[in-house]
Amino acid sequence: MYAREQTKSVRVGNLIIGGNAPISVQSMTTTDTRNVSDTIAQIKKMEIEGCELVRVAVPDLKSCYSLPLIKKEINIPLVADIHYDYKLALKSIELGVDGLRINPGNIRNVEKIKSVIKSAREKSLPIRFGINSGSLDKDIFKKYNKVTPKALIESAKNIITVLEEVNYHNIIFSIKSINVIDTIQANNIFSSKFNYPLHLGITEAGPPFQGTIKSSIGIGLLLYQGIGNTIRVSLTGDPIEEIKVGYEILKALHLRKRGLNLISCPTCARCKVDLNKIIKKVERQFCNINKPLTIAVMGCMVNGPGEAREADIGVAFDKKNGVLFKKGKIIAKCSDKIIIRRLLEEIKNG
Ligand code: SF4
Repeated sequence: MYAREQTKSVRVGNLIIGGNAPISVQSMTTTDTRNVSDTIAQIKKMEIEGCELVRVAVPDLKSCYSLPLIKKEINIPLVADIHYDYKLALKSIELGVDGLRINPGNIRNVEKIKSVIKSAREKSLPIRFGINSGSLDKDIFKKYNKVTPKALIESAKNIITVLEEVNYHNIIFSIKSINVIDTIQANNIFSSKFNYPLHLGITEAGPPFQGTIKSSIGIGLLLYQGIGNTIRVSLTGDPIEEIKVGYEILKALHLRKRGLNLISCPTCARCKVDLNKIIKKVERQFCNINKPLTIAVMGCMVNGPGEAREADIGVAFDKKNGVLFKKGKIIAKCSDKIIIRRLLEEIKNG
């Protein structure tokens, strides 16, 4: 793992992004923002899953008026996602959001951007400028004839020139493409030139199976290089899945610790128990814990005991019998009928 790139730090509500702050996990609601109760209910579920910042789409004035009502009921920073209409950004600031995400590809007028900055500055609000492959500035697209890492960086540079002209540094950047390699290259270039915090993601990554793989590779490779300060996994589906995947990426890179880390083998002819069923049971029991806990469930004694010993607690099966390990020591040997009960008891008792 490379050393983390040092960036400026930015405060969004009660969350610090950049500097030495932990890499945070964020997501976006899928509800209609005008529907306050549904939006609050979804954010509450996201908070339980560990979401540390939530973004809501603000496509119209009525959505703006939902913002203070939503903010009052939630515990994580609320960011308004604005496209096209800078007046919605001004209204969202006035109504008390913790931050803005605006797209310089579709709010292109410099004076309008400056007026948003002026209002944000008065309230010390950070703004994320999100450069997306799908909404790249038209002139830049024409110049490069397609979306390329250089085109994305040129778009970022243009807006940075405006921001630096007015001495506004309370900013976060994101440079996302549907193309994983372009995203990696563009963020590498950005990080070598600027020290603003980076929000990472692969845009429109797809449904959970494909999107998880693309996001894990794109976000994971960048984080491994020390690049990135906050992440959003973008999936077509429940935002809860986005948060879960986000934490799994961070856990795999040892950047955050949270909840269950399940080690289990793929099974083979040596396995004499129904390991799938056992794993599902363990997952069900411990999917909601926040405390970091590594559990190993292994199908036989070949690699089983070795892996189980590395975990906080683990079990390896020897035909129909299970051997229970805790902190590297064998604490029980019993039949598969009762070993899982023992495993669950031991975990619950700490
Ligand atoms: Fe097969 Fe045993 Fe390895 Fe599982 S741990 S895959 S059962 S050899």
